[in-house]
Parts: sequence; C-alpha cells; structure tokens
Amino acid sequence: MTKEELWRAVLAQIQLNISQANFITWFKNTGITFQEGNQVIVSVPNSFAKEWLENKYGKTILKTLHNLNQEIKEIKYIVGKTELKVLKKTSSTSLPEIGQLEFQEFKINKETNLNPKYIFENFIIGPFNELAHAATWAISKNPGFIYNPLFVYGGVGLGKTHLLEAAGNEIIKNFPQKKVKYIPSEIFTAGVVSSIRNHEVEKFKSKYRAVDVLILDDVQFLAGKEKTQEEFFHTFNDLYEKNKQIIISSDRPPKAILALAERLRSRFEGGMMADISYPDYETRLAILKTKAQERKVNFPEDILNYIASNIQKNIRELEGAINRLSAYQKINNQPLNLEKSKSLLKNLIFSPARVSTPKKIIQAVSEFYDLKEKELLSSSRKKEIVNPRQIAMYLLREDLKSSYPFIGRKFGGKDHTTAIHSYEKVLKELEVNENLNNEINLIRQRILTC
Ligand code: ADP
Ligand code: MG
Repeated sequence: MTKEELWRAVLAQIQLNISQANFITWFKNTGITFQEGNQVIVSVPNSFAKEWLENKYGKTILKTLHNLNQEIKEIKYIVGKTELKVLKKTSSTSLPEIGQLEFQEFKINKETNLNPKYIFENFIIGPFNELAHAATWAISKNPGFIYNPLFVYGGVGLGKTHLLEAAGNEIIKNFPQKKVKYIPSEIFTAGVVSSIRNHEVEKFKSKYRAVDVLILDDVQFLAGKEKTQEEFFHTFNDLYEKNKQIIISSDRPPKAILALAERLRSRFEGGMMADISYPDYETRLAILKTKAQERKVNFPEDILNYIASNIQKNIRELEGAINRLSAYQKINNQPLNLEKSKSLLKNLIFSPARVSTPKKIIQAVSEFYDLKEKELLSSSRKKEIVNPRQIAMYLLREDLKSSYPFIGRKFGGKDHTTAIHSYEKVLKELEVNENLNNEINLIRQRILTC
C-alpha cells in the first residue's frame, strides 16, 4: 500500500466519526510524507493543526494505520508541505477516489448556502418520510402559497437537511429569479450576535428580509437564545406577510423545544408539520444499494442485509457503513465477504460502546483539556480547571439529564447550586461563543469513542 493509500484510508475512517466541518478544518492539506518500517511522518499545514491532530486524533490515526499495516507503531507530525492533495482527483487506474473524500463543502453556493449534492433525485422515499417529502416537493413547485411555514422534524441523520436543501435547490431550478437562503440556526444566532456587536442590526435584518425562501435548519438550537428568537420572530412575520416561503427543521416538534418563546412556537405550529421517523427494512436496503451504486461499488446481498438489519435509526450511519466498506474494497482491490465486513463495521454497529455515561463524559473532558480526572473532580479554583469542570457539568445535565444534586455529588460533593450555576453559565456562554460550541461538539465526539 502506498503512503497516499494509507492516508486515504485514515481519512475515510476518521470522516465517519467527525462532522464534515471538523473534518475539513483539521484534515485539509494533510498527508503522509514519509513511511518506512515502523515510522510514519504526517505533514500538516500549520502548528495549530499539528497540535490538534496529535492531541485529539492521534490515537485514532495510529490505530487506523496500525490496523492497515501492523508494522506501523509510531507517528510523527510535522508542519510542512503535503504531497498528497486530497482534493485532486486521481485517475481510476492508479488510485480510486473515495466518494466523500473530496471536500465537498467547497462547492456550496455562496449566495444561497445550498449544497448542490442534496437534491430530490438522490433522496429515497419510504413510508417513514413520505409526508415530509410530499410537503417539501409541493412547496418547491409553488413556494409561499401552500404550506407556510413548513416545519420538518425528526431524529439525527434521518434526512432533514437533505430534504430542506433539496427543496431549496429545486426552487432555484424551477424559479431561477427567486432568492433562496439556507441557514443553519447556529449561524443565524452567530449573525444576530455579531450584528449587535458591530452595530449592523439593520443590515442583518434586511439581508434576511430580502429573500423569497428562507430555510432555517435545526431550529432547536434557538432554544434559550432570546435575542435571536426575537430577531427571527420579526423576520418570520415580515416574510410571512409577504407570502415568502419559510421552511424549518428541528430534531423535535415545536412543543418539545423548551425555552422557545410561545409566540414562535405558535407560529411554527400554525403551518404544516411533517415528521420523519425511522426507515423500515426495505427502505434501508434500498438506501444502501443506491449509495453503493453512487460510489460505483457492489456488495453481495448478505452484506447489505447485515447492515440493514443492524443499523436502523440513522441514514448517515448507513451511508457511513457503505463508505467504510467501499474504501476498504477499493484500496484492497478485492471483493469483501461478510465476515470481513462485520469486523470492519464493528464499532459502527455495536452501539452500546457509543452511549454516553457520566464516567465517559468526565474522561473525555479531562482528556480533551489535558487534565487528570482527579483535577477535574477537585475543588481547585484555577481557571484552567474551573472551565472544563463547568463544561463537564453542563454535559451531564444537557446530554444525560442528570439531576443537579447528582452532578454536585459526582464532582466532589459540591452543592447542587454549583451545578446549576455551571450549567447556566455554559449555556449562556454558548450563545455568544462559537468556539465553545465547536469545542463541546468535539468533546461529544470524543465521548463516543471513550
Ligand atoms: P439530518 O439533517 O436529519 O441529521 P441529513 O439530511 O444530514 O440528516 O442526512 C444524513 C445523511 O443521510 C446525508 O448524507 C443524506 O444525504 C443521507 N440521507 C438521509 N435521508 C436520505 C434519503 N431518504 N435518501 C438518501 N439519502 C439520505
Ligand atoms: Mg441536519
């Protein structure tokens, strides 16, 4: 295996476990510049990326490389020019390209924020998403006049973003003169915050009020963000009165978004609501076959059946399984059997290991900030310990719904008011601090691998 192939295999593996945004941030322009015997040198574009790769992904990278080549026992990271350009397509004879490894984010339309890869043509319909599909499809034929707003909700990885963006892309196709804007809620929030800070509120307002179709993704992130909600409320009303189309997604129905202003909730409920539930077995199989076809690979039925039976609640994971197997198959240039597939998909399928627990949160936070668990649980008032501790408490509350007294006890017998204070402080900080948000998401990914 050449060093390029090795690195592609590492990227294919890592890409499955982190968000596309993080993947691009940390792995763009990286590569293996040297590999001999048990040593590998990975080059990275700058010292910041070096630190992150070493500290946050070092273990995964080493494990992946070691799995592919047992000899490899050590990795060094250097800042320098990379020979391998991941973006560059290679000819099919020398090295097959691996589907998602191109950094597709770059193709996003700057005007609309829409990603052209999300279209109706590659969206598979089953009983679980039929209604949401029908509603978005209808809207894209006649935006503003049928279902307004349209509120699509459902769990993670079930196709909300794909569907919303498909509607956006379809509208542009049908009505090229219409202005469509897709925006994730976190970005909308960041926009509100910075427009206030920079005294550009009017400019911000007019930007969103000039559109014909506004697509706001993952609206649950507006929970507790009062200023942003207020701004969105006014934008909403303005667009609504002008018969402009509003499409919203959320991981839960409006009723279940706590800390959402009542007036927004009733606006959302006043339109059309469509949910996406879990795909049935047949649709899962159809999705797997389509995704394999898109990647120009073939797998025997028994492998596809195995995946469809074992991954039931997340289409992104179905896709991840296909990516992983196709990467392996292409690199090794030989067909896979069921047994090998099972071992390649082990950590994707056996999810108990991926469930979060207080212990894992504490471990992940300590590792992330290079602290000893003892320090995190101590009463130290040092800032570099207090902040991580508050984040750990926040995660216990937010992700595990632990009670405040429980959290207090867990952290060295502190009072429950300390836990409340920590939770609220982090929650507030998240509203204005985009970096903290990224940090916490990275910690969450780490928790899954603890
Ligand atoms: P969500 O926004 O609900 O978390 P996404 O829209 O990001 O989910 O979907 C996750 C991945 O699964 C995407 O790559 C998407 O293209 C794919 N996907 C989801 N639903 C379907 C579907 N019905 N047909 C084809 N691909 C799908
Ligand atoms: Mg989404």
